[in-house]
Amino acid sequence: MKKKVLITGAAGFLGSHLCDKFISEGFFVIGMDNLITGDLKNIEHLFKNPAFEFYNHDVTKFVHIPGKLDYILHFASPASPIDYLKIPIQTLKVGALGTHNLLGLAKEKGARILIASTSEVYGDPLVHPQTEEYLGNVNTIGPRGVYDEAKRFQESITMAYHRFHGVETRIARIFNTYGPRMRLNDGRVIPTFMGQALRGEDLTVFGDGSQTRSFCYVEDEIEGFYKLLMSDYSLPVNIGNPHEITILEFAKEIIKLTGTNQKIVFKPLPTDDPLQRQPDITKAKEILKWEPKTSREVGMKKTFDYFKNLSPEDLSKSEHKSFTKHIRR
Ligand code: UDP
Repeated sequence: MKKKVLITGAAGFLGSHLCDKFISEGFFVIGMDNLITGDLKNIEHLFKNPAFEFYNHDVTKFVHIPGKLDYILHFASPASPIDYLKIPIQTLKVGALGTHNLLGLAKEKGARILIASTSEVYGDPLVHPQTEEYLGNVNTIGPRGVYDEAKRFQESITMAYHRFHGVETRIARIFNTYGPRMRLNDGRVIPTFMGQALRGEDLTVFGDGSQTRSFCYVEDEIEGFYKLLMSDYSLPVNIGNPHEITILEFAKEIIKLTGTNQKIVFKPLPTDDPLQRQPDITKAKEILKWEPKTSREVGMKKTFDYFKNLSPEDLSKSEHKSFTKHIRR
């Protein structure tokens, strides 16, 4: 009898990779998604697999799963600044109401649940690199507040279900992750730069490009989630790659990788854009015996190969302009 796992956000970037991982580990996977930001293309290769089932459902509504359930991974959420602006209420609801429903399901089924939290709980951090003990610097009413605060509430309600109801919970604080199946038009820096290079457009660096990020390849990140779920540690754990780079340096790397002849153009920095971000992964190393293995060079090449093979129709879609119009100060 296979162990059964529910993965929410299954048609999204991380969710679809999680479905692949759990199927390859011998689980029966129920994928759930309401397809607001997810894309069935990411999981269509799984539809013929007898170990996979898909529910088109919005987790902010009551979630019913017949029979036993061993694990839940809650990865349903809009996850890019462009999405928070376009669907702010859904962003709040899926982190808050959706998490409540899934914790209730975990309690009912006696299932262990892993919650996808985020480095955004640290906001624009005043401590660097960010340890799990850092309490954060979040603007509750800014454009990113709908995501950041939903995720902070998500952590609180998860710990409450753990402490009050004894539910087995795990909390992954996810830092910037990249790889195949990222949405080309989601406004995030990697698909944006790669899309621009492929369409022959200039690369748009926001601000002076001195803000930093630390990018983790998806395969490493998924391995971190798996190890966390299987561990017995219920406090939050940072899962990310500590190799930090400025966005300007990163744009130069992308120009080199893609061979584009385009140049870098500077645009205003969006509101509340964190100036620096780097995970302290001491806990993940010690508790999970996990650390990322893929270099940026290798990971970015694999990611660019994915974007290169998209259809010209997919490539021509760009919501970037409308996004930048909304986020100016
Ligand atoms: N960024 C940029 N140009 C773009 C898109 C993003 O310079 O066309 C910057 C953005 O301002 C931020 C960084 O890249 O400092 C990462 O942005 P992303 O939206 O990918 O993720 P997040 O801000 O949530 O880390």
